[in-house]
Amino acid sequence: MLTDNRTIIHIDMNAYFASVEQQANPALRGKPIIVCGEGRTVVATASYEAREYGIKTGMTPYEARKLCPGVINVAGDMEKYIDATRKIREVLLGFSDRVEFFSIDEAFMDVTAGGGVAGGAVKTALKIKERIRKNLGITCSVGIAPNKLLAKLASEMKKPDGLVVLKKEDIVSVMRGLPVEKLCGIGRKLTGALNKAGIRTAKALGDAPIGMLTKHFGFWGHILQRMGRGEDNSPVSMCYADEIIKSVGHSYTLPVNTRDVDVIRSYLLMLSEKVGSRMRRYGMRGRTVSLVVRYSNFRAFSRQLSFKHYLFTGGEIYGVACRLFSKYLPLYKPVRLLGISVANLIADEGQRLLLDTCRSRESITRAVDGINARYGALTVKPASLIIAERFGILQSTPPGRQGHYDKDRD
Ligand SMILES: [Mg+2]
Repeated sequence: MLTDNRTIIHIDMNAYFASVEQQANPALRGKPIIVCGEGRTVVATASYEAREYGIKTGMTPYEARKLCPGVINVAGDMEKYIDATRKIREVLLGFSDRVEFFSIDEAFMDVTAGGGVAGGAVKTALKIKERIRKNLGITCSVGIAPNKLLAKLASEMKKPDGLVVLKKEDIVSVMRGLPVEKLCGIGRKLTGALNKAGIRTAKALGDAPIGMLTKHFGFWGHILQRMGRGEDNSPVSMCYADEIIKSVGHSYTLPVNTRDVDVIRSYLLMLSEKVGSRMRRYGMRGRTVSLVVRYSNFRAFSRQLSFKHYLFTGGEIYGVACRLFSKYLPLYKPVRLLGISVANLIADEGQRLLLDTCRSRESITRAVDGINARYGALTVKPASLIIAERFGILQSTPPGRQGHYDKDRD
């Protein structure tokens, strides 16, 4: 059913912001440093030296200093990190054009075409690590696996500077002992909800009856079960380096056909955010938004709206998508697929990655609130299942959540 005969590499920079700072300023090397986001009062990234003192992402500088009085607080410089990411992008595109940036410091690469066997992929991964070290002076952890979910899991397994291969035959044993919260996209609250339902490991999640999962988690139950089984058929998007991009779009086939307008709107928001994040990655803005709706009988309809001004945030695109969607109401059949694209693009001079990331998070939070309202007190963590839906630059641990020390962002 799922295409797990692929070979996907996940590349994740180690303690990214801190490493970039240490590289830029030799006086910081080997020292415990924290990088705090602009205008924020929490740790965005701590160097490995600082982590030895127990300092984590999301702590306040005050808390960090209590753990390590000598810790050096560096003001975050987003431009610097974006610039480093551009360099990483160049390195990766030297190996393949099937590269998708998942966040500012993480990317997926599909190397199936290059032989597909782990041996070839390992060689590629080693070369990538070497080149990033040479060109940027920083290290990364790499995971190689048959899909994105597992590749990300693999890169998490050894930090810093790791290289972990997960083969198809390893999946069952890995999932058996894996706490659910280790799966990309399953956050603290969702973990709590799953644990309450008696589900502690990925395997237990994969084995859970679908009726029970959908009873607790609505249509997300289908996605969760797949995650528990280590299944993920999402493709690695192409990175169009030189090509002139005419439109940026995403479509999504729903796990189950639905007439539920709230559920559909949640998906529209996810797609909008994904399109917005990709536009920003390309440095584009656009002024025509199209919405495709395919029904359960496979008939598809498309509507579009154009504006004088240019749009680039997920929130703006979502607003238009909702206006377009309202024209489809009442729904003629259950919906099977949704697609959003933005055309009439121009290059966007100003990079506003950080700002947009914050905005995206706000709207994601709203969407999840909508889902929660619909399914009662069920606790889908913002950016958790959404990450499962492959959300570009969004992170599982938004810096700025006080008292929320999940996984380190590294
Ligand atoms: Mg990282």
